Amino acid sequence: MTHIARKRFGQNFLHDQSVIRHIIACLDAKPDQHWVEIGPGQGALTEPLLKTGARLDVVELDRDLVELLKKKFAGQTHFEIHSADALKFDFSTLAKEDERLRIVGNLPYNISTPLMFHLLSNAHCIEDMHFMLQKEVVDRLCAEPGNKQYGRLSVMMQYACEAECLFDVPPESFDPAPKVISSIVRLTPHRRPPVQVDSRENLNRVVTQAFSQRRKTLRNSLKDLISDNDLNALSIDPKLRAENLTLSDFAKLSNLLDNVPQISAS
Ligand code: SAH
Repeated sequence: MTHIARKRFGQNFLHDQSVIRHIIACLDAKPDQHWVEIGPGQGALTEPLLKTGARLDVVELDRDLVELLKKKFAGQTHFEIHSADALKFDFSTLAKEDERLRIVGNLPYNISTPLMFHLLSNAHCIEDMHFMLQKEVVDRLCAEPGNKQYGRLSVMMQYACEAECLFDVPPESFDPAPKVISSIVRLTPHRRPPVQVDSRENLNRVVTQAFSQRRKTLRNSLKDLISDNDLNALSIDPKLRAENLTLSDFAKLSNLLDNVPQISAS
């Protein structure tokens, strides 16, 4: 059975066996673990994952691929196929008792950011997540202060997870080949928050505002939210820019917002 790749489902199937082996080696799946693969496609990663003996649930949107997978893996134990949209799927239903899921996916690039945040809403039942994404997105996820890739995505993701870039994958490893270089990222949700944040919404608010005009100094970009005096009181120089602040600086700024009674709604 042959499947024609569908662009609208972001289908780029991995076919390079050395890349597949490298990914499987990084995953280091064990028989007592519970894995979830998002977008299994034609099973390029599914098959070697099943060979590890781990329990595996897969979530696939394309019904034709669901049928193909059912035939390919008929009779396979410890394996379940969910015909569903991963963006709407409740991953917490898969984790039994205090189980922590290990997640993997060569994701369609257009859904990668919302899907990561959707998964993080269930971070308590996730051990780690490995994703194949556009290299540009992986660089942003893992970027550190001072780097030009460092932005809202870096700060919000690093508040939730440890983010590690594992290795790059060239376009020729896929069929059809995407236009961009891909990269594998490992995201490990923090068991305890790395910094004290009173309100995630306030963190998001201050980070979004600071980076919305990233060339401006904090004095200017944050002027509706935080005064020079408050910045100075936190030992944050108002002449710095968003890209110079660490996660800990953003956390301190966001905690200040709780004390600001009413911020202009404009
Ligand atoms: N993992 C396979 C396929 C990658 S292509 C491989 O590496 O070869 C991306 C896969 O994600 C496709 O199978 C596509 O149908 C599926 N997909 C796209 N959007 C999805 C969604 N919202 N939920 C679940 N799967 C999705």
